[in-house]
Amino acid sequence: MKFGGTSVGDVDRIRNVAAHVKREVDAGHQVAVVVSAMSGETNRLVGLTRDVARLHDAREYDVVVSAGEQISVGLLAMALQDIGVAARSWLGWQMSVKTSDVHGAARIEMIEPDAMEAQFSEGRVAVIAGFQGVSSANRITTLGRGGSDTSAVAIAAALKADRCDIYTDVDGVYTTDPRMVPAAKKMDRVSYEEMLEMASLGAKVLQTRSVELAMAHNVRLQVRSSFDAPDAPDASANGEAIVGTLICDEDEIMETEIVSGIAYARNEAKVTLREVADRPGIAASIFGPLAEAAVNVDMIVQNMSADGKTTDVTFTVSQDELERALAVLKGATADLTFADLQAAPDMAKISIVGVGMRSHAGVAQKMFQVLAEKGINIHVISTSEIKVSVLIDADYVELAVRALHAAYGLDDELAG
Ligand code: ADP
Ligand code: ASP
Ligand code: MG
Repeated sequence: MKFGGTSVGDVDRIRNVAAHVKREVDAGHQVAVVVSAMSGETNRLVGLTRDVARLHDAREYDVVVSAGEQISVGLLAMALQDIGVAARSWLGWQMSVKTSDVHGAARIEMIEPDAMEAQFSEGRVAVIAGFQGVSSANRITTLGRGGSDTSAVAIAAALKADRCDIYTDVDGVYTTDPRMVPAAKKMDRVSYEEMLEMASLGAKVLQTRSVELAMAHNVRLQVRSSFDAPDAPDASANGEAIVGTLICDEDEIMETEIVSGIAYARNEAKVTLREVADRPGIAASIFGPLAEAAVNVDMIVQNMSADGKTTDVTFTVSQDELERALAVLKGATADLTFADLQAAPDMAKISIVGVGMRSHAGVAQKMFQVLAEKGINIHVISTSEIKVSVLIDADYVELAVRALHAAYGLDDELAG
């Protein structure tokens, strides 16, 4: 069971979480619980690190921002004990959550289940801090924002758990962010592959890496609400009835839509290099230095030019990395010459996702048509087998998502 920030946002909510855990313990399950920091806490800690030094040591960043989870595990263990459930709290390193040493974005490499299983055999619930681990250099690491989803799935995989339930502030995965589109529909089931695309294209309900891990280790993953009454008869306790959304293999899903969901990501920026010499090796001389500077490049387009000697190259990065990307390109070697370097912040990426796209034509065309009818200009397009993404001005995000949601028949007729 994993509980996110809002679900442990104050003392009453922590008691409510304890009641959810008690229900599962009373039903005879052995339970490992992963918790996030109380809502707002990680943001506060990140803010402190920026205030002290804009360019700080990532190892010390991790020491600071991992601290929020230490408080919530302790409080939850107390709340459990208070209602008569034997429980003990554990930090990542104490449960040997071994990670890479990429501070701020570490990957879990291994978790030994022994210490957790020892807790179970003594009849105790293990309450484990999400988001954190320990590197081979014995330093505290964190897994990137939203990382406690990944902690939970990795622990479920290590324990070979029957299921990993992600409790959050919505009651499942929706066709798009229900906070933006009230007509969004809850999905009963969604395939790993679609969920992976949705998450990586901006749906923050699950961290991308958590879906990757669930898919690789066949962890049955359920997203459900922590605000449901904890003592309500729990359908999911008896076998396979699902109360939230189950993320599972494609072949477990009977009916698939052509487009099953719409994701968006704000804070994108577009960079264009004008009149770059058109010769072999040019892409490498642009994207090599960016990769070395750890700038994450997303969409890329290269155009033909009229004279055949030069070309224009456009790509996107996250807005936070724009400054760094421009500095890298301006300082790049003499190999890379261009007439002009243009940057456009305040862009957003809108994506339609669905495994049904594999076997249907005209899906992208409909997207372009809908956006055209709304007068929304498309700057960059990229596609894969099961998604189409477009880059548009950030001002039009809501309009675009709502229009596409309706156009692909995803609106819930009953919602309001
Ligand atoms: P937690 O703190 O529990 O990890 P998050 O804020 O990280 O919760 O994720 C839950 C949020 O994800 C929801 O409040 C919702 O606004 C957002 N969200 C974005 N896309 C979707 C989607 N397709 N389905 C459900 N929630 C979504
Ligand atoms: N507390 C961490 C964050 O805010 C991890 C998480 O919530 O999943 O990113
Ligand atoms: Mg989250």
